[in-house]
Amino acid sequence: MDHTRVITIANQKGGVGKTTTAINLATALAAIGEKVLIIDLDPQGNASTGLGVDRDQRRTSTYDLLVGEKSASEAAVPTAVPNLDLVPSTLDLLGFELEIASDPRRVFKLRDALSHPDVRKYRYVFCDCPPSFNLLTMNAMSAAQAVLVPLQCEFFALEGLSQLLDTVAEVRSSVNPKLEIQGVVLTMYDSRNNLAQQVVSDVREYMGDKVYKTLIPRNVRVSEAPSFGKPVILYDLKCHGSQAYIQLASELIQRERAAIAA
Ligand code: ADP
Ligand code: MG
Repeated sequence: MDHTRVITIANQKGGVGKTTTAINLATALAAIGEKVLIIDLDPQGNASTGLGVDRDQRRTSTYDLLVGEKSASEAAVPTAVPNLDLVPSTLDLLGFELEIASDPRRVFKLRDALSHPDVRKYRYVFCDCPPSFNLLTMNAMSAAQAVLVPLQCEFFALEGLSQLLDTVAEVRSSVNPKLEIQGVVLTMYDSRNNLAQQVVSDVREYMGDKVYKTLIPRNVRVSEAPSFGKPVILYDLKCHGSQAYIQLASELIQRERAAIAA
């Protein structure tokens, strides 16, 4: 089996915790000594900003990687988190879909880029997707071994999840037969909210043990951290949000070990 695990964080809805999950899972894994890369595939660039890489510092980008102008190690920049590198997003990404429309390998641009040997130094690559099933998300799904789905505890969660599972099934039957669901993580959970509890039990019923045991609580420290350009784990290690993401990382590692053993 390949040493590097490429995990795509996807949900077609915005504001469900994709970027927060990418940043903090990556940070938790980097903190235990794994080499980790985040690829920011969202033109909004929240993962880049949230890791303290501001727009004026982005000399290389995911766009360069996708069009083959730069290799992963040329496009990646270090972050303030030891062991965690980032390929930043720039607004060039907005043009990618149109520019690449007639390229027969348009869905495989990221996979081609990640097949370069210099990617092997990373144990984990997380792709942070934009909030839609566009060509950027399709590139991330075709390049990944697994998809990790953050789901907000709200009324339409299940509906969105079933659309996402349909998309994963389509990707499997067309471009990436081995794509797995790493897991579904429920985010912004508020135990005082009855609806949230109902959503958790519905999602567990529907998805069984694909749902991580860890619930990410709604936590103001989590929402403050990005404005300081820091993962919440560095901003306030002790808060409930940080502790939940550390626990989620340990579940992820357990699943990865089980997958390798199988
Ligand atoms: P997405 O990438 O899916 O659009 P984000 O990770 O950017 O979602 O999260 C959307 C907003 O919610 C951001 O402002 C983020 O800081 C905030 N947020 C995410 N997770 C939490 C949480 N557990 N508690 C409080 N706020 C959160
Ligand atoms: Mg995002």
